Amino acid sequence: MIYDVAIIGAGPAGLSAALTLQLHGKSLLWFGTPNLSTKVQKSEKIANYPGIGPIGGEELNALFRRQMDEQGLVLTDRMVTMITKTKRGFMLLGDNDLYDAKTVLLAIGSVSSKGLPNEEALLGRGVSYCATCDGFLYAGKTIAVYCGDARFEHEVNYLADTAAQVYLQCAPGCGSTVDRPNIQRLSCPIKEVYGEDRVSGIRLTDGTSIAVDGAFFLRSSVAPTNLLKGLAMDGPHIQVNRQAETNIPGCYAAGDCTGRPYQIAVSVGEGNVAAHSIVAYLAELERAQKTSAEAK
Ligand SMILES: Cc1cc2nc3c(=O)[nH]c(=O)nc-3n(C[C@H](O)[C@H](O)[C@H](O)COP(=O)(O)OP(=O)(O)OC[C@H]3O[C@@H](n4cnc5c(N)ncnc54)[C@H](O)[C@@H]3O)c2cc1C
Repeated sequence: MIYDVAIIGAGPAGLSAALTLQLHGKSLLWFGTPNLSTKVQKSEKIANYPGIGPIGGEELNALFRRQMDEQGLVLTDRMVTMITKTKRGFMLLGDNDLYDAKTVLLAIGSVSSKGLPNEEALLGRGVSYCATCDGFLYAGKTIAVYCGDARFEHEVNYLADTAAQVYLQCAPGCGSTVDRPNIQRLSCPIKEVYGEDRVSGIRLTDGTSIAVDGAFFLRSSVAPTNLLKGLAMDGPHIQVNRQAETNIPGCYAAGDCTGRPYQIAVSVGEGNVAAHSIVAYLAELERAQKTSAEAK
């Protein structure tokens, strides 16, 4: 099945787009976590959202959830780690499964960096974001794992089942309690990953180097240019025009990932703009396909 739209991100931008696209009858594949947006959830009080403020972030998130459920919108709880442009549109890797969509909306929130030095260059050459996809490649080998959130614990356990030795760094406050004989917790953070043609080691912030065959970075987000190759950036943000179009035809972006100010109202507005642009793009696509079929 090829979906009309794949939305990545279930914060205010993703939700706003999903609501509008559903009203337009488009088939949706919507990736996100059940708590929708950690940022909204963590906001103590939101006083600048029209109509319903001041309101606690948890309460607003619960309202978002209720509207989503009432409208029958379904979330796919998968982390998207790779998007590839294809002839038919886009192919997305969500955890271990592949999905096809004609268009893509990136509503992934602000992503602070491209990752560690050399991470992008060594992606697919020892660096991986998906344990279940690539873990088998490291059977009996030594790997480094960065665990950014306790929800990735099952992936850390899976990697420990496969690899001979795991050097593990857990993010501050990640809450992971994973403890296995072949897991060694790193005493300080990973500063960089290195290697010529592929990963050969990691360097820690105290200057220590450890030889590894691979490095897994299990984070709640992936830098946009690692997610989709060739995506134009404006500093740390995805470059878009007023129609929420990126430089890649069929790929749109909305919300914090496109720039400041980081605000719910902005994300909701941009999600809505992106949805309308996607509807127009799909209509144009359909027209072009019809004309080409008639010409044959
Ligand atoms: C403490 C705090 C207080 C704030 N207070 C206010 C306020 O008072 N008023 C206001 O207007 N704004 C406030 N904000 C900002 C507001 O929360 C953000 O602007 C808003 O949440 C951005 O929405 P978004 O949809 O762009 O991104 P987010 O809400 O960040 O949502 C992005 C979603 O995408 C998901 N995602 C990312 N990458 C992937 C991937 N590869 N695969 C699958 N899912 C993925 C993430 O898990 C996340 O759920 C506050 C933020 C914080 C942190």
